[in-house]
Amino acid sequence: MGIRGFVQKYVGMNPNPITRKTHEAHSRTRGTSVDISICPYCAVGCSQLIYSKAGRIIDIEGNYESPINGGTLCPKGAATYGLVHSPYRITTVKYRAPYSDHWEERPLDWCMERIAQLVKRTRDASFEEKDENGLTVNRTLAIGHFGGATLDNEENYLIKKMWSGGLGIVAVENQARI
Ligand code: SF4
Repeated sequence: MGIRGFVQKYVGMNPNPITRKTHEAHSRTRGTSVDISICPYCAVGCSQLIYSKAGRIIDIEGNYESPINGGTLCPKGAATYGLVHSPYRITTVKYRAPYSDHWEERPLDWCMERIAQLVKRTRDASFEEKDENGLTVNRTLAIGHFGGATLDNEENYLIKKMWSGGLGIVAVENQARI
């Protein structure tokens, strides 16, 4: 009689050390769909696996098949899930009036209209077709644009095309260095 039979016969215990709960436990990503994406935070471009269940992102991890990051993410990239679901994420427009010491909430439409009016006014007042040497420049040096790193490639492409190609704004920058 082996030890398993001995225990079952004389002690009456289940010799299997794994409980039903442990046996039924599974990975939190089981049953999810997975999409491949790029970390939005910096120009290293680490690849991420985005796990979703019932239309909701439930986990974001490094992609093991990526030659760039080989399944790893730095602490910032590993916190990308919070970018999607953090309750601390600000989702309303904040406006600080000139000389004010506090932020106010404003409707998005109001802010878009104000930005458009200020850009138009400033560009009209500062646009240069030629520089001091007579070279064609078609530019304004009075407006700058600074984008956040969570803007994706397509958004950055459109921003650069609109601001520089369309409006002649030279100072277009992004934390991810487009
Ligand atoms: S922020 Fe970190 S994880 Fe994201 S691309 Fe840069 S190095 Fe990679």
